[in-house]
Amino acid sequence: MIFKDLSPKTIEQLKKFSGLFFEKNQQLNLSGIRDKEGIWLRHIHDSLVLLETAFDLKPVRSVLDLGTGGGLPGIPLAIVFPDKQFTLVDATGKKIAAVSEFIKQLGLKNAVAIQGRAEVIAHSQKFREKFDLVVARAVAEFNILSEYALPLVKPGGYFIAYKARKAERELAQAKKAIQLLGGIAEDVIALNVPELGHRSFVVIQKKKTTPAFYPRHDGKIRKNPL
Ligand code: SAH
Repeated sequence: MIFKDLSPKTIEQLKKFSGLFFEKNQQLNLSGIRDKEGIWLRHIHDSLVLLETAFDLKPVRSVLDLGTGGGLPGIPLAIVFPDKQFTLVDATGKKIAAVSEFIKQLGLKNAVAIQGRAEVIAHSQKFREKFDLVVARAVAEFNILSEYALPLVKPGGYFIAYKARKAERELAQAKKAIQLLGGIAEDVIALNVPELGHRSFVVIQKKKTTPAFYPRHDGKIRKNPL
């Protein structure tokens, strides 16, 4: 269980976030999971399952959470890792307004929330190939997601997608996309979390610069995935 390794102060912050998320979710549809217990387990705990894998987060300094929604997994990770810098991105303005409020209420100095589409910001100097790690949970099928995410990763950095199931099949379908975007499939990490069931992470390492042509417009990405 992840929480046994965290300090009481960190757990208190995570609980505070869980409460804030619960309240906000009454007014704004951040998640279909509406009960306190479900939010704690299936959102907060689930966001932190990454800590139970062998992936080495120590060298990571900058993280972008793509399609963060109500701040998942970005906010729980930012609470646990105050020394890493988090950029939380979502296309929806209302969600980003809520996430900005959470960041302020939690006093997080290491997180910023930005409204934007991944495939648009990936063409700006400020974001392109700037992150040691890009994470995404429940955003899109892997071949589509790779085109959103890999252009944002620094060469040498990683993209990790949280997947509940079907990870191997999705990864197999995305092999060509990953290669075109400069990545290499590292691993599918599968684990069974007693409280949550089967969880997997698809880990892609960025080997080479992504050709400037990518990402394409969203219509093209979705209509004709790589
Ligand atoms: N990661 C959160 C939210 C998942 S819902 C969680 O695990 O709960 C998916 C979110 O991705 C939505 O909020 C949607 O607005 C956002 N999204 C989808 N495509 C996107 C894109 N291309 N760029 C930025 N955000 C995107």
